[in-house]
Amino acid sequence: MTRIALYPGSFDPLTNGHLDIISRACRLADRLVIAVGAHHEKSAFLSAEKRKALIAAEIANIADNIDVAVFDGLVVDAARDLGASLLVRGLRNGSDFDYEMQMAGMNQAMAPDVETVFLAAAPSINYLSSSLVRQIAAMGGDISSFVPAQIAEAVRDRIGRAG
Ligand code: ADP
Repeated sequence: MTRIALYPGSFDPLTNGHLDIISRACRLADRLVIAVGAHHEKSAFLSAEKRKALIAAEIANIADNIDVAVFDGLVVDAARDLGASLLVRGLRNGSDFDYEMQMAGMNQAMAPDVETVFLAAAPSINYLSSSLVRQIAAMGGDISSFVPAQIAEAVRDRIGRAG
């Protein structure tokens, strides 16, 4: 049986923290699908299609069993549609834990056959978040050590266009 894992998130933008989870999660399954949430498309920083394209370019350098897709419904429905039996999430700290435990509980109630797996954030980058990257970039800070080069460029472009 092919074991498919789904890694859902906003990835707005993808950070080195996400990349670390991706490179570890792809070893836990035959196939890893990164699911980019398009739920708040109007208030999103980068469009879901842009996020997907940026992620596609990054994962090409990691392994060949990783795909990326956009979804806008429930994570458990996306998992069912793709035949995924694992849901991957990263844990950085206590607030992630509280939120993620609740989400995992709800998802388990809705889809008992889909197992949530938490990966502990790498200690060296457990402070990284997309929202802080956006804020730092908006204030003219250097984000090059937090995100891959192509992503940093896309973030700067986006801020340039808004300004
Ligand atoms: P969401 O809006 O679904 O929380 P995010 O893109 O913020 O989407 O996060 C997606 C997943 O990646 C979450 O499980 C989050 O905890 C994890 N994550 C985010 N940043 C890091 C990081 N620096 N290290 C490890 N995991 C991370």
